Amino acid sequence: MALKDIRGQDTAIQMLKNCIINKHVSHAYLFQGPEGVGKKAVALAFAQALNCLDLQTDQSLPVLSWSEIDGCGCCLSCRKAQKGNHPDIHVIEPEKYTIKIEQIRKLRGSVFYKCYEGLYKVIIIDGAHYMTIEAANSLLKVLEEPPENTVFILVSSEPGKLPDTIISRCQQIQFQPLSTHIIEELLKDNRPEQGGDLALAAGLAGGSLAKARELLEGGEILIQRQETLEFIQKVWERSWSEIILWCEKWDKEKQKVKNILEILGFWYRDLLVYRTTGREEILINQDYLADIKRCTLSLTKINNALLLINKSIKQLEYNVSPRLTLEVFFMNLKIN
Ligand SMILES: [Zn+2]
Repeated sequence: MALKDIRGQDTAIQMLKNCIINKHVSHAYLFQGPEGVGKKAVALAFAQALNCLDLQTDQSLPVLSWSEIDGCGCCLSCRKAQKGNHPDIHVIEPEKYTIKIEQIRKLRGSVFYKCYEGLYKVIIIDGAHYMTIEAANSLLKVLEEPPENTVFILVSSEPGKLPDTIISRCQQIQFQPLSTHIIEELLKDNRPEQGGDLALAAGLAGGSLAKARELLEGGEILIQRQETLEFIQKVWERSWSEIILWCEKWDKEKQKVKNILEILGFWYRDLLVYRTTGREEILINQDYLADIKRCTLSLTKINNALLLINKSIKQLEYNVSPRLTLEVFFMNLKIN
């Protein structure tokens, strides 16, 4: 995939093209942004462009135009990059949510050799926040004295977990959540037959193509959504024991409780949007339009629910028990 084929990350791509056009390629980048928005795809396409034999990013060339800054896709280097067997492009990935020091050491051994074929040795560390402290320290030593013509690209959805000493040595490139429209278009390319589900998955994915694909594949989450939305609409009439019983179902199910809270987040967002703008076409839960229109909750209650949802998601991240998180959420929702 070339840079021109990547959708929805124009700012990040422009910044990288700028580095090539100004001949200021940094020795380390940190690609940060939500999961599943194209960070790794851009890293691979950038590595391909840096090594493209047609583009020839060396100092002797005249200034190129914006559109020319990309891998050609045809030269030997580009073809190898696309097949994933370019000897100067390395990708390191976590194994069981960990990047170990051995993986970084092995890399340190190879970066000091000259490029085999290309102009730049590019090392992509996907999920960089999974590095152990030892691995991060080992990488830091390389970043402190970067070998020539070597570009490190750290890819991370949780850059806050990386040591400051590493972050400060990287040029940071921010990636944005994808728009619902772009996600829907990208999904359509692969599954034109799924029609209405695509729009719904795109809306619920929170800007992540990976999440949208997961939603469509699993199907389970769509069932969970239906159950959650039916439950929340009657929550005011339900007794405490009914609520507690429902929360019990999700005991120790961290991911499912996170899904429930996200589903509720989109629900209240829709209520707020409809109440304040009256615009139906920008609602996510299109299949619940009648229920959204019928809802008579006050704006204060809707706003309060949204605040509680954010707080609950944070609690889950701090490892509060999923069931307790849900119970406290409903308790606060009902009494406020
Ligand atoms: Zn090429």
